[in-house]
Amino acid sequence: MQIVIIGAGASGLMAAVTAARAGAAVTVLEQNEKPGRKLLATGNGRCNLTNLEQLPEKYRSTCREFPAQALAHFGVRDAIAFFSGLGVYTKNRNGWIYPNSDQASSVLDVLLMEAEHLKVKIKTRETVTGIERGNSGFEVHTKGWSYPCGRVILTTGSPASPIEGSCESGRQLAAPFGHTWIPMLPALCGLRGSGANFAVWAGVRAQGEVTLILDGIPIRSERGELQCTDYGISGIPVFQISRYAVRAIEENCPVSLQVDFFPDMEEEFLAKLLHTRQEQCSYKSPRQSLTGLVHEKLIKMFWTKGMDFERMAHCLKNFTFSVRGASSLSQAQVCSGGIPCGEVNPDTMESKLARGLYFAGEVLDVDGACGGYNLQWAWTSGYLAGSSAAREEIL
Ligand SMILES: Cc1cc2nc3c(=O)[nH]c(=O)nc-3n(C[C@H](O)[C@H](O)[C@H](O)COP(=O)(O)OP(=O)(O)OC[C@H]3O[C@@H](n4cnc5c(N)ncnc54)[C@H](O)[C@@H]3O)c2cc1C
Repeated sequence: MQIVIIGAGASGLMAAVTAARAGAAVTVLEQNEKPGRKLLATGNGRCNLTNLEQLPEKYRSTCREFPAQALAHFGVRDAIAFFSGLGVYTKNRNGWIYPNSDQASSVLDVLLMEAEHLKVKIKTRETVTGIERGNSGFEVHTKGWSYPCGRVILTTGSPASPIEGSCESGRQLAAPFGHTWIPMLPALCGLRGSGANFAVWAGVRAQGEVTLILDGIPIRSERGELQCTDYGISGIPVFQISRYAVRAIEENCPVSLQVDFFPDMEEEFLAKLLHTRQEQCSYKSPRQSLTGLVHEKLIKMFWTKGMDFERMAHCLKNFTFSVRGASSLSQAQVCSGGIPCGEVNPDTMESKLARGLYFAGEVLDVDGACGGYNLQWAWTSGYLAGSSAAREEIL
């Protein structure tokens, strides 16, 4: 079986290795000069390759059951065993799994070593411009060449991140086969605020809790290190709720965020603490007495002349602002949207509209939470697409 894979990212390389192991002759076409550019950037260069806590809500899709059904075939244990078989000894940071080397390049390197060993052809600087039905199944066209094959696996990723090759070409390549497209929007990203001078708090990193409010209703809260920025707010807790905020804005729903800088204290307790601190150092002004408890930039942001401690405690625990949108597509780690999962078989990743055409990775309408879930999705869907495409069934 001759298989062409479009895109040498995480899911494309997984599909290539799996299909080649099953006996297929595999060619991977990659538009960049080198394969796996995005994979190298994962986990700040350390590659959080999966997560032991595999709850269904960690994967988001318009077809809610689709990711879980696929993960039942190739889950976290399978991914760890797969990489262990390639030589990647893993380490566990509270369930977040990394290569022991702490180098994303190790993960890419072992995939490339295995691909080479299996005689997978990886052709770089090959931008796929179209796919057509051909005599042997398909013809995959690049700018200067045409590749005949029996099966095609589309793993073109998403436009998230500034990394070269991040694009939406999957849309145009799948459209001739009748596939529709859910617009790709940033997910796992910072959020832009309005109604405050965010330049004042830019640079603050603080433990806290953010609550997403859609049309006045609190939807979900996340705790962790918040990063205050000149456009609004970022950090892992913000990433975790960002896709819901961005999708809601797209649907014209009013979105706001409530920030609590003292999530472990009741508001009343915090106000009392502020009073006690000033009583203990009565030579300080009320504002001066905040120093040492609250970051100076947050004091500047919230303290106004004549304010009392009750009001300050309220601001520190309930700062609420409107959200205008994502920080930017280039700062996002992934996108939501893509090929609707209802058009794809969750057990094989084969198109329901075009026999012999498969999808894997971010091009599908599945996005994961922060913590290794997006790469797990790339491994799961890549494995399923590669193993199914390699089966010698007559179409
Ligand atoms: C900064 C950053 C950090 C991240 N950290 C993590 C992390 O630690 N853990 C985690 O789980 N996830 C992380 N992610 C998300 C994860 O990297 C992606 O979800 C994953 O790489 C998606 O894999 P993919 O195969 O779908 O797409 P990609 O890896 O993006 O691969 C798609 C490939 O297709 C190529 N391509 C596109 N169109 C064409 C065409 N027409 N012709 C030829 N080639 C084409 C592209 O050049 C690209 O190489 C991170 C993302 C970013 C940006």
